[in-house]
Amino acid sequence: MGSEMGRLAIGVDLGGTQLRAALIDQNGTLLVRTAMATAATQGPEVVADQIRDAVATVSAGIDPPRLIGVGVCSPGPLDSLQGIVLNVATLTGFVNIPFRRMLQERIGMPVWLENDGIAAALGEWRYGAGQSVSNLVYITVSTGIGGGVVADGRLLRGRRGMAGHIGHMSIVRDGDRCDCGNPGCWEEYASGTRFARRARQRVQSDATTTLGKGDSPVDGRAVFAAATAGDPLAKSLVAEEADLLGAGIVNLLHLYSPELVIMGGGMSANFAQLHPGIAARIATCAMPPFRDTPVVRAVLGDNSGLVGAAATAFEAAKP
Ligand SMILES: [Zn+2]
Repeated sequence: MGSEMGRLAIGVDLGGTQLRAALIDQNGTLLVRTAMATAATQGPEVVADQIRDAVATVSAGIDPPRLIGVGVCSPGPLDSLQGIVLNVATLTGFVNIPFRRMLQERIGMPVWLENDGIAAALGEWRYGAGQSVSNLVYITVSTGIGGGVVADGRLLRGRRGMAGHIGHMSIVRDGDRCDCGNPGCWEEYASGTRFARRARQRVQSDATTTLGKGDSPVDGRAVFAAATAGDPLAKSLVAEEADLLGAGIVNLLHLYSPELVIMGGGMSANFAQLHPGIAARIATCAMPPFRDTPVVRAVLGDNSGLVGAAATAFEAAKP
């Protein structure tokens, strides 16, 4: 048991709905974890207190010298170099907040702040589906679409650490307006939220579908289940979603030439149903030398961001 004295980091995944924290070792193993509802409407001071308490919970009883610090990931945009949250739409009052300093004052340990998509990319690179490669694109598809990029063996952070907001690349020049203000963003078309909304709209004008005929709501899960059962509308909705995902992924292949594209987030629970359509779009629309790039499901599942946040601390603390 030589690992008894191994170094440990705490990962915190701050989301608009849930706040999760875990004690994680250098192999990416979650040792202790806790979760709570984020006090999303109560402002940064209250959320910082929540993180302080979560950190205390998961690190209770640990010899302090073993703890290298706390990695916190949050939706962006945020300036991970300065430790400033610039603007998080789902958290009230999180505009230009020096969150890293606020947390360090409360916790008394080094704290690093990272965009959740970039942290998840790091998690999958170090401990998940991307361990064998030096170039990858990670995409998370859930309420919105986020991501992160590893290029030439380095995590791509960009100016102010804001690289990788892949959900906000326009795929329709004059398309539906995204919450960010830009028309036609990829996430405005291909996120899990939009997938479910499209399904609710289409069932209105389709008499043959089983969707929406019972008491159960028309949500993403219902559409995938109906598609599996052979419902034609559900099958066409899944095919359309896969094609929209594929359209964005083709752009990412051309931009970054990854060895691997890794898909996480809630929608990746149905990766097997989406993959054929994604692959078909790539086979048709990517330039021929890019077409053999595999698209795979995230290995760490829900924990890509949490493990990646701790990995952020391990990387930052490297001598
Ligand atoms: Zn946008």
